[in-house]
Amino acid sequence: MDVHVADHPLIAHKLTYLRDKRTDSPTFRRLAEELVTLLAYEATRDVRVEPFEIETPVASTTGIKLSNPKPIIVPILRAGLGMLDGMVKLLPSAEVGFLGMIRNEETLEVSTYANRLPDDLTGRQVFILDPMLATGGTLVMAIDYLTSKGARDITAVCLLAAPEGIRHLEEELSESDIPVKVVLGTIDEKLNEKGYIVPGLGDAGDRLYGVV
Ligand code: URA
Repeated sequence: MDVHVADHPLIAHKLTYLRDKRTDSPTFRRLAEELVTLLAYEATRDVRVEPFEIETPVASTTGIKLSNPKPIIVPILRAGLGMLDGMVKLLPSAEVGFLGMIRNEETLEVSTYANRLPDDLTGRQVFILDPMLATGGTLVMAIDYLTSKGARDITAVCLLAAPEGIRHLEEELSESDIPVKVVLGTIDEKLNEKGYIVPGLGDAGDRLYGVV
């Protein structure tokens, strides 16, 4: 597993305001979108491209364009939806699939409650969006599901991670020959006993969309 932690003052600045409990939902949504666009720059570093010929007003030249099949972006509902606009801003021609996952707040176990994805992901580059890599349970399950549909090129984009979640993901993927890249805004201190990232930002879904 390849873990990339963004090291950029703009990302640290925006994350600070995202963490602040006084930040209201509209501002939180805007900051999340801006952060994802910055992280997407790194996450798409190995996006597949192919050469093609164009004419500039001055000369012929060879440029590049995204290859087919186009990448697919998979936000994990509900909180991953808050990252979608920021990602499609950079990859407007990507397709979007959805995976609904929820964790039981007592057992911290994750279950899938919805999915809308192509049956066959063979040859597709997949970008998973999930703001919080906490226990790692959601990502493990999502990666498992996507690989069962043929995905072999997976990048997860998360705003915050706990060291425990990264370790769990690494352990679960250690036997796998599928290269998974994880792009993170930052790595926080720890998980607390309720499975929240510390210092974190609280419940990302609630901060984005309110408590339901
Ligand atoms: N999910 C969240 O929304 N926040 C956390 O801190 C951990 C998991």
